[in-house]
Amino acid sequence: MDREKKINLLSRLALFECERSPNLDRCIYDAKTQRGRVPILKVLQSTYCDRNCDYCVFRRDREKTPKVYIDPEDLAKGFWELYTKGRVKGIFLSSGIFIHPEVTMEKMIDTVKILRDRYGYRGYVHLKIMPGVSVQTVEEAVKVADRVSINIEAPTEKRLKAIAKGKSLLGDIIPKMKEVAKILESFPAKDQTTQVIVGAGGETDREILKTSEFLYREIGVKRVYYSPFRPVDGTPMENLPPCPEARGRALYRADFLIRDYGFTAEEILGGKDFLELGKDPKETWAKRNQDLFPVEINRADFETLIRIPGVGKRTAEEIIRRRLRSAIRKPEDLKGIRNLKKILRYVTLMGRYYGEVKYSR
Ligand code: SF4
Repeated sequence: MDREKKINLLSRLALFECERSPNLDRCIYDAKTQRGRVPILKVLQSTYCDRNCDYCVFRRDREKTPKVYIDPEDLAKGFWELYTKGRVKGIFLSSGIFIHPEVTMEKMIDTVKILRDRYGYRGYVHLKIMPGVSVQTVEEAVKVADRVSINIEAPTEKRLKAIAKGKSLLGDIIPKMKEVAKILESFPAKDQTTQVIVGAGGETDREILKTSEFLYREIGVKRVYYSPFRPVDGTPMENLPPCPEARGRALYRADFLIRDYGFTAEEILGGKDFLELGKDPKETWAKRNQDLFPVEINRADFETLIRIPGVGKRTAEEIIRRRLRSAIRKPEDLKGIRNLKKILRYVTLMGRYYGEVKYSR
């Protein structure tokens, strides 16, 4: 198989949804990176994997998956051609584990080094860290990449064992993420992310969000991505139902509140195991905590303002700017503020409540 065909296939397989797509362009996607939004080629070094994770299209025993490997020289050259034609501006390199995690990771790092050193490539690189590699190898990976990721896949040891017996959260993945965090202290512009497969191992939203909270607060992970489980034929999980997309969306909304707004998983869930699908989690929290409302908009500090349903960080800053000029006394003083009708349900303006008043902006 020639280089172009291999890259095409390895890229389509990297994005499961493109498995049947004949067009490489459909596999190039815009990713939000530290450098802004850039078109990324997600590609694999190899589809061979000697592990047997139950959910995975690349598991050793799935005969249907084409077994393809591309050497670092060819992959670097093929990517460079796409880059110089302006089709991509970044690479996300992952792989199945072949021979040994160290060998796999070495080939992936070699690919990036050829790009950086020989071709002078300065663009975006996201490298997946293989489970079980040494700290020296992690260090090498961090040096050549902008972003690295180790997928936790499931929120607890028990849930992970249910879908990938050979992996361990406590014995390998979390300690490795801590090692990455330590190394990243010397590279403030770089970061690490992770991914959870949602709905594969019987896990609750509570388990997922508590783990995400731990990863943000204790390890400094930049983003947790939630990937709804989709069964792959020819795997032990082929007959399981797919996870509803709405569950993934609900987790992203809750995650946003934990990551950027200082909420705890416990506050968002209010004792429940699952989020309410299709509901704004901040509004659900506010309804459960009516004793905290209404908030006097002229006195609330920034942290209190951003907890009001409908108020984002920019809106909170705008409210503070306006009240520094003069007190906010009536809804007209908030003219132009987004979600005003919703916000008025949760605030007072100089002690007066306008929540039920119909006010058109
Ligand atoms: S180690 Fe990774 S690529 Fe291999 S089977 Fe498990 S999830 Fe798939």
